[in-house]
Amino acid sequence: MAKIRFATVWLDGCSGCHMSFLDMDERLIEIASKVEVVCSPYVDMKEFPENVDLALIEGAVSSEEDVEKLRKIRKNTKIVVAFGDCAVTGNVSAMRNNYGVEAALKHAYDNLSDHNTGARPCRVVPKQLDRVSALHEQVKIDYFLPGCPPPADAIYNILTSLIEGKEPNVFDHTRFGK
Ligand code: SF4
Repeated sequence: MAKIRFATVWLDGCSGCHMSFLDMDERLIEIASKVEVVCSPYVDMKEFPENVDLALIEGAVSSEEDVEKLRKIRKNTKIVVAFGDCAVTGNVSAMRNNYGVEAALKHAYDNLSDHNTGARPCRVVPKQLDRVSALHEQVKIDYFLPGCPPPADAIYNILTSLIEGKEPNVFDHTRFGK
């Protein structure tokens, strides 16, 4: 049986969802036997390819770069899963919507400014959107896996179900904000 072409992507999130994925521990070996990882922060493949079967997307959409990546993922992937509360609702990443882009950049980067040149790191940050959004506000999402982060059991459950072509029940192991 051909292996599932599998990807994980990190947009505007803290990487906590990807850390929780690693908490599957020895079950990672079972998952690895059933998938071919074609793009992920875990491996040295960062360009999203064509013909992907299943992708987990962590994080919200905060920049023009995120929108571009997400559209490319959607175009090239059969099943897209919003992975964690930031992807599902905006969650922590969307807290800046209350304050605006400039205030967020100033707060995040002023302490890192180069005081000799006045250069701010935000000049190399991808252009930020006025409003952070959840994934489904930008593209069609097939499944939502809530949790901040989703626990390893929930990740294992949805992955094994989707790999076997079954309908997952994500609420067996997680809920929003868990
Ligand atoms: S859902 Fe929670 S753990 Fe996942 S990226 Fe967002 S803040 Fe981090």
